[in-house]
Amino acid sequence: MKYPRTIENLIECFKKLPGVGEKTAERYALSAMNIDPEIIKLFSKSLEDVKTKITRCKLCNNLAEDDLCEICKLQDRDKTTICVVESPKNVVIFEKIGSYNGIYHVLDGLISPLDGKNPEDVKINLLIDRIKQGNIKEMILALQPGIEGETTALYISKIFENKDIKITRIAHGIPLGIDMEYIDSLTLELALEDRTSM
Ligand SMILES: [Zn+2]
Repeated sequence: MKYPRTIENLIECFKKLPGVGEKTAERYALSAMNIDPEIIKLFSKSLEDVKTKITRCKLCNNLAEDDLCEICKLQDRDKTTICVVESPKNVVIFEKIGSYNGIYHVLDGLISPLDGKNPEDVKINLLIDRIKQGNIKEMILALQPGIEGETTALYISKIFENKDIKITRIAHGIPLGIDMEYIDSLTLELALEDRTSM
């Protein structure tokens, strides 16, 4: 037996989410019937907004709702220090620690030739343009430990090798193969403090 089409459609929608299989999608869809109508409205509006309102910051490629992201808009950030990260998720992680006062650059991925991800597939050109404009004194490479992170860090440091910019990377206290998301904030804060020159 199948559910009515509306429910089947909702199940199919939930299955599009990462980590959600048939059973979980079914549970979500059935429970949706018991959610307050106002919440449902907010739910569907938020889903739509994520597609229509979210864009990328023109400066740092972070997620934004305007030309600039919330961090680039702030006047009191140190605009001479730039922290290079893999994804917008990493920006949120660093912001949660609260001790970093510089700006960011979101690469949107790491170089991984084996997976067909070349330098031009990540936002390195945008980073080069930003550095060319001057003002940046230090670039902190805060990339995921592992082969892709290493390759990307090396590639970037080579580009800026002879430029008047200090390139550092966060300390290697970060365990290999662990997603930055799961590293506790103290470890990450120490890794940021103990950064070393490349
Ligand atoms: Zn920005």
